[in-house]
Amino acid sequence: MSLLAVAVAGRGVVDPSEPILRADDEALLRGRGAFETIRVYAGASFRLSEHLERLRRSAEGIGLPPVNVMQLTELAAQAIEAAGEPDAVLRLLWTPGNGQGAPTALAVVSELADHYDALRERGQRLISLRGHRADEPWLLPGVKSTSYAVNMAAEAEAKRSGADDAVFVDADGIVLEGPTTNVWWRRGRTLHTPSLELGILAGVTRAAVIELAAGIAYVVAEGAYHLGDLAGADEAFTSSSIREVMPITELDGAPIGRGPAADELQTALRKAALATPS
Ligand code: PLP
Repeated sequence: MSLLAVAVAGRGVVDPSEPILRADDEALLRGRGAFETIRVYAGASFRLSEHLERLRRSAEGIGLPPVNVMQLTELAAQAIEAAGEPDAVLRLLWTPGNGQGAPTALAVVSELADHYDALRERGQRLISLRGHRADEPWLLPGVKSTSYAVNMAAEAEAKRSGADDAVFVDADGIVLEGPTTNVWWRRGRTLHTPSLELGILAGVTRAAVIELAAGIAYVVAEGAYHLGDLAGADEAFTSSSIREVMPITELDGAPIGRGPAADELQTALRKAALATPS
């Protein structure tokens, strides 16, 4: 990750090479922090209020102090301005600090990796990996916490086996989500995606895709689906803030066909992002 700008509560914009966390910050010691990753298009963060709302819910789920939305909004604006890069990645972080003083609030802007458009052209190869279904409150369903080591380990396992990314399935073979993406597939005019009731993250891009799908005459079906449904689809793709809509062309070594929906939705997403800043 190449840092462009950092803004911190109480200090504003700081030199990105400056240390800004206490050694006893709970996020560092135990992974008790909430975060958001947001795409900046033409200098404006896409769907910032939806990301802040999810951050608020994540903090609540983990038991962190309530998120100071105004403070983070201001820090985000400062960091984006300081970065001076119209297309970038914005991360917001909210932690309880050491639990005695003020929470830690950070906005970090970094460069967008340059290989996503090439990957979109080529399509991603996924492998399915056993994941856990967050079906109890203490398994933190729908929470985006800084405890992402498992997600990163799954991504690394996918890469080790020659794939680009993973898709988690539960013990019953039900499709959940990717380590940093929501998963979709199409049969005819219907787009299928796992239901939020499975404890997966309510992707901001997932919600955008649901809205945009209606405009291009696709029906969206949310449910509990077996991996075979995905494997036998007409086409498949993932959605996420940074990789946007990304076609899947292989699952567990078997090809999945390409189709029009991923491209249509990617075009619609970019259009929406550029038409409605923030
Ligand atoms: N699922 C998981 C586990 C994620 O970490 C992410 C994003 O990082 C997503 C889904 C996609 O969410 P969004 O569209 O809000 O980026």
